[in-house]
Amino acid sequence: MILLNSTISPVDATVNTLRVQLLYITGIMLFLALFLALFLSKHISQPIIKINSTAKALGTGNYNVTFDETGYQEISELGHTLNYAATELSKTESLRRDLIANVSHDLRTPLTMITGYSEVMRDLPGENTPENIQIIIDEATRLTTLVNDMLDISKLQSGTQPFTRTDFDLTESIRTILQRYSKLTDYNITFRADEDVVVNADELKISQVVYNLVNNAITYTGADKVVAISQTVCDGKVRVEVRDTGEGIPEDKLKDIWDRYYKVDKAHKRAQIGTGLGLSIVKTILDMHGGAYGVQSQEGTGSVFWFELDVVQ
Ligand code: ADP
Repeated sequence: MILLNSTISPVDATVNTLRVQLLYITGIMLFLALFLALFLSKHISQPIIKINSTAKALGTGNYNVTFDETGYQEISELGHTLNYAATELSKTESLRRDLIANVSHDLRTPLTMITGYSEVMRDLPGENTPENIQIIIDEATRLTTLVNDMLDISKLQSGTQPFTRTDFDLTESIRTILQRYSKLTDYNITFRADEDVVVNADELKISQVVYNLVNNAITYTGADKVVAISQTVCDGKVRVEVRDTGEGIPEDKLKDIWDRYYKVDKAHKRAQIGTGLGLSIVKTILDMHGGAYGVQSQEGTGSVFWFELDVVQ
């Protein structure tokens, strides 16, 4: 039998040291866990909470909201996508608002005329004349043009219409458009082009520009019924000019004609046919393409409407 007599105070001291260290470590760990929780909540939960409340605002019809795009990649991507959705929704909303405003403002007059004349023709014997019927047809045609123009401009300005650039032969495109006017034999419509040029643009929309300018020239040209279209190339740009021999446009009105619904002389019989939207459509399309455009006009001599696009080399 071996008897050992030893004091255990060093072991006690070690246990005590270990206990104190354990307490410290626990404290530090608790502190780190708390810090981590706060950090994660700030960087993950908070942005999601913010996005959620913004989404709720969007849901109530407030399309001007902006989603937070900061934070981790996935959250910033979510914010970005939601911002895109909000922008698209607001475009559609502005298209809807514009259409309602325009419809109530412009469609009422022709509709009132159509209803009025139809009622007169129904109720009064002898009023069923070709002239009255022609008025109804004219008003209905005007309505169709108006609706088409309104749809075009609203779609263009709200950016909901797709915009597809392709390389196409502008000269050929103008020739095709002018062929459709070949039935207007009493008009002298000419087209002169240096050479065939290719441009990179939305063919359908550029055709609409040419159409609107030629239509205006035909509508407002003088008694000699001359409309001259020319296409020239200079410094890598193609310039298309549409010239008429009409009354021209007063200098102080030249800026306003590009505005929506603006007509120089509303009482003018010819101007009554138009919608006042044609040049506004031209302006919007050329702005989209970054093309220059303008008009030179002299009262009594006629007007020259022109636009320029980059030539594809
Ligand atoms: P509208 O459908 O009335 O022609 P536009 O936007 O095409 O609408 O033109 C706006 C206005 O500019 C016209 O009402 C007209 O007064 C004037 N205008 C446009 N083109 C010509 C032109 N070639 N000659 C004279 N005036 C013009």
